Amino acid sequence: MTQSWVGENAYCPACASEYLEPTPEGTPVVDFICPKCKTDFQLKSQSKPFSARIVDGAYRPMVNSILEGKAPNFLLMKYNVEKLSVNDFFAIPKHFLFPEVIEKRKPLSDSARRAGWVGCNILLHRLPEEGKVSILKDGSEINKSEVRKKWQSFKILSDVKPESRGWTADVLSCVRKLEKPQFKLSDAYSFEPELSKLHPDNKNVLPKIRQQLQILRDLGVLEFLGNGNYKFLR
Ligand SMILES: [Zn+2]
Repeated sequence: MTQSWVGENAYCPACASEYLEPTPEGTPVVDFICPKCKTDFQLKSQSKPFSARIVDGAYRPMVNSILEGKAPNFLLMKYNVEKLSVNDFFAIPKHFLFPEVIEKRKPLSDSARRAGWVGCNILLHRLPEEGKVSILKDGSEINKSEVRKKWQSFKILSDVKPESRGWTADVLSCVRKLEKPQFKLSDAYSFEPELSKLHPDNKNVLPKIRQQLQILRDLGVLEFLGNGNYKFLR
C-alpha cells in the first residue's frame, strides 16, 4: 500500500518532475527513482510516529556507502492503518547523511540465527532541521516550491567529503539560525556549547568553527568581509 501511494502521489523533491518511478521488484536499497534527474530514494514506512532513531540495515555497509557517496536518499512515511491515509511524509537528502548520523547497534546475541551481525540506526534527532524536508505534515501538504527550495538550499554539502560533512552541516545550520544576512565571528563562536555537545570528541571547537567558515567560503556560501565579519552569498 505504501509503495503504491508513493507511486501515485509523490513527486521529486530534487527537481521539477511530478513523478517518481518504482524500481523493479527485488532491487536492493533503492525503491524509487526520479525519471528526470535520476535521484534515487529508499522508502521507509511505519504506522507509529517516528522517534529519535530509525532502524536500518547492516552498519558497516551503510557507513561505507555514505563514505563512497553511494547511499540513497530516504523517504519516510507515517501512515494510519484504519483510515488508510498518510499523516507524515518527509525526505532526508543524502547530502545530509554523514557518519555521525549512523549509530551502531549491539551485535546480535550468540543465540540469534545471525549471531554477531551488527545493524545500525539512523539518528533522526542528530540531523539538523534542514536535513528533514517535510512534504506532508500532520496530513497537510507543504507547498511544493518550498519543499524543492529546502532540498536545494543545502545541496552544496554534496561537495564536502562525507567524513567532514557533519561539521560543515552543523556549523552552517548554526549560523543560519542567526537569521541575519551578515554576522560576526563572535556570533559563530556563540554556538560553541551546542557544537561541543554534537561533537564530544573534539576539544578544539573554536578553531574547528573557523575552519568550517573557510570551507563555507570556498563553497561560495559565505564571503569574508574582514575583521571577523561574514556575509551570506546564498
Ligand atoms: Zn528529480
